[in-house]
Amino acid sequence: MEKILISACLVGDKVNYEGKANACPQLDLLKEKYELLVFCPEVEGGLKIPRLPNEIRDDRVIRKDGKDVTREFNEGAHKALQLCKYLGITKAVLKENSPSCGTHKIHNGYFTGVKKNGMGVTAKLLKENGIEVYSENEIEKLIK
Ligand code: SF4
Repeated sequence: MEKILISACLVGDKVNYEGKANACPQLDLLKEKYELLVFCPEVEGGLKIPRLPNEIRDDRVIRKDGKDVTREFNEGAHKALQLCKYLGITKAVLKENSPSCGTHKIHNGYFTGVKKNGMGVTAKLLKENGIEVYSENEIEKLIK
């Protein structure tokens, strides 16, 4: 069975910044076709659960209190890429709007609730290295 990387919060792991999950309703369909490799780049990058929100501003990742957390985000992204390379994973399903996992949309960097077009740090790195990235809203493309 083909392996696919998936954001940990989408399978129900309570790992997001609030210590909550964002469980994805189409998970069972995905499991019929793929072996899921569950991964949270922010936790793997050393960030705690719960944690303050973080957003991408220009090329940096900034925590809500102003701390620069780019290093932690990059570390999580590189670990995700290493895992994909090691296991021969070529596809990932990632949580939309996240500063790590967003595949089409992210927050605008000013903690105002406004989103813009863009990719999270992990999604971008995976895509740049040839891995197909899908949001949880695009699962149908993977199961047809
Ligand atoms: S970094 Fe990705 S997997 Fe982890 S909580 Fe955020 S969206 Fe979910």
